[in-house]
Amino acid sequence: MRLTRRAFVGTGLAAGGCAICAAARAAPLTYDLDIREIAPRTFAAFGARETFSLANGGNIVNTAFIDTGAGVVVIDTGPSRRYGETLRAAIAAKAPGKPLLRVFNTHHHPDHCLGNQAFPAATLAASAGTIDGLTREGEAFASGLYRLIGDWMRGTHVVVPQVTVAASVEVIGGRRFQLFDLGGHTAADLVIKDMDTGVVFTGDLAFLDRAPTTPHADLPRWLAALDTLAGLDRSALLPGHGPLDRGQAALDQTRDWLGWLDGTLREALARGETMNEAALRPLPKRFSALGVAQLEYERSVMHLYPRLEAQMLTPVALVR
Ligand SMILES: [Zn+2]
Repeated sequence: MRLTRRAFVGTGLAAGGCAICAAARAAPLTYDLDIREIAPRTFAAFGARETFSLANGGNIVNTAFIDTGAGVVVIDTGPSRRYGETLRAAIAAKAPGKPLLRVFNTHHHPDHCLGNQAFPAATLAASAGTIDGLTREGEAFASGLYRLIGDWMRGTHVVVPQVTVAASVEVIGGRRFQLFDLGGHTAADLVIKDMDTGVVFTGDLAFLDRAPTTPHADLPRWLAALDTLAGLDRSALLPGHGPLDRGQAALDQTRDWLGWLDGTLREALARGETMNEAALRPLPKRFSALGVAQLEYERSVMHLYPRLEAQMLTPVALVR
């Protein structure tokens, strides 16, 4: 029988035996969530501007919750069961005794929804595209994260939301939320605007001070979604990764990165560069302050270059 990393961690054997494992066992696997009130009774847990690692346990994402008075609305659940349980405890501390009314998954990426287990299944909601993506790819994502962050993932499995939402205005706990069914970062990206406070929760359609990720990106669609977001009245914008934005920085920075990325890859392809040559291109200085910029650029080349190649290079008929 092939023992996968995931099965190994699941057995608990990873916590025994070798010296490395002893060191891992000594480290307390507890998330220290950086929770701040970003609007009245609206809280965000800010993740590190990093990529997945054993050190951060996948706490690289922003999640949020809103105490409407009648109950709590949650936006994204984090990368693991353990994260979801920690978030749930934080909600109980900030809004004691309040029922959980709704838990949104903005999109199907694992850092945003593998904490779903910690929440009542009937409260979990997402757009149809996210439900489809999680159903198809969720288990593979979970296995991938087991390889990257190991024991932090113990006991984590995919829970697909039961409630399908679409573009609409929903009243939850007496408060109105406007839902936007957009896409471009993935096939389905849900944006949630709290119409009382004016806070817009963009999921990964917006990044700030952290390079965007592109494994499922459709760049033209993503840029169109940024236009929609730019047109929204808002008091603040919580990006999927990075600090709260009370201005235009997250949208401007995400647009700048995506436009540069698309132009750079097209130019490299037009010059006949290989994928490896394109990946070696230097990043502009203006991106040097972004978290994991070099890594995300190289990953983006791997994701996007073959697709662009297929689009741009017209097959030439062989002359006999
Ligand atoms: Zn994402």
